[in-house]
Amino acid sequence: MVNTAGQVIRCKAAVAWEAGKPLVIETVEVAPPQKMEVRLKVLYTSLCRTDVYFWEATGQKPLFPRILGHEASGIVESIGEGVTDVQPGDHVFPVFTGECKECVHCKSKESNMCNLLRINTDRGVMIHDGKSRFSINGKPIFHFVGTSTFSEYTVVHVGCVAKINPLAPLDKVCGVSCGITTGLGAALNVAKPPKGSTVAVFGLGTVGLAAAEGARIAGASRIIGVDLNSSKFELATKFGVTEFVNPKEHNKPVQEVIAEMTDGGVDRSIECTGNVDAMISAFECVHDGWGVAVIVGIPHKDAVFKTHPMKLLQERTLKGTFFGNFKASDLPSLVEKYMNKELELEKFITHEIPFTEINKAFEYMLKGEGLRCIIRMDG
Ligand code: NAD
Ligand code: ZN
Repeated sequence: MVNTAGQVIRCKAAVAWEAGKPLVIETVEVAPPQKMEVRLKVLYTSLCRTDVYFWEATGQKPLFPRILGHEASGIVESIGEGVTDVQPGDHVFPVFTGECKECVHCKSKESNMCNLLRINTDRGVMIHDGKSRFSINGKPIFHFVGTSTFSEYTVVHVGCVAKINPLAPLDKVCGVSCGITTGLGAALNVAKPPKGSTVAVFGLGTVGLAAAEGARIAGASRIIGVDLNSSKFELATKFGVTEFVNPKEHNKPVQEVIAEMTDGGVDRSIECTGNVDAMISAFECVHDGWGVAVIVGIPHKDAVFKTHPMKLLQERTLKGTFFGNFKASDLPSLVEKYMNKELELEKFITHEIPFTEINKAFEYMLKGEGLRCIIRMDG
């Protein structure tokens, strides 16, 4: 690599200029990393539903022009003042759930909600100086969740990078930086289904199917997949889903359908749709006495979760999680699991495209086609 440290880099980025309009590949200027920041060369990125919500900006706060993207893998190009954890050349993930390593959350084994670097979808600038590192002819372009990976180079806080095994294939492991880890963790760290239990998973996208995979690994014996799109069902069998329910095919609420299938309700449910009605159904379909429901989907900004408090009194538990309660520092060990063939990642990749065709990834997701689409930045 040519030494570009300390210099502004001109490179290609896919800019979202307006809500819902196709991204435009532009030449952007990426400023050098400042104090406690790292500049990354992104090699692979993929589209997660959360990017789509902030691009559509119908249920989320609009902030444009912006460089979206948070699921990615790459290499450290240069480091700013005070950075000692990574060096140029290191293979890394950018991570939207960062770790300052000093706050009460970082010191707690139970939380990944770092006071400084937890997900913030409304901030479009760097924490250090409140400015953007991206510009086009001097006009700033906003960041997204501290990662902005739809760019050949991006600047992130050092607490938002996870250094991984340099032998890991960066395209295959890309999904570990968001969707796969979120779903796996929602099952393994939060829902914690006992051996032999029954688990319902709402939403059979990458996050939901990673949750199903987590439930299978935990030893669940029945995994009920719930999706409005029946074309997801065939693929879902590869992830341990044993039964399917399409709520549109029933004339009663899906929680009642599930209660009938399971003699009173499932032991665990994991919601991965972002739809508040599905969240309510996911909660109400767990068995009284012990059932636990976990909310993972990102809701509409005005959504209200409504249920009768009696459902809680009857000893059901409702939980939520960002990033499956994993910390950025847990990611290297997930990559090792993949390297040791204990975790399958390839089956989440259904499409691959060059960066210039990034809008196709949005089309696939909007059509509900497949799972992750890997975007090659050198294309
Ligand atoms: P996706 O679009 O690939 O999958 C979502 C699936 O849900 C689709 O198959 C869709 O048909 C289904 N669905 C939508 N509404 C439904 C409903 N009412 N009932 C049943 N099924 C329904 O999305 P994804 O990338 O897998 O992400 C899933 C959700 O998780 C999104 O809301 C995303 O924003 C969220 N997410 C949360 C975190 C976190 O840290 N909490 C991280 C990543 C993604
Ligand atoms: Zn995501």
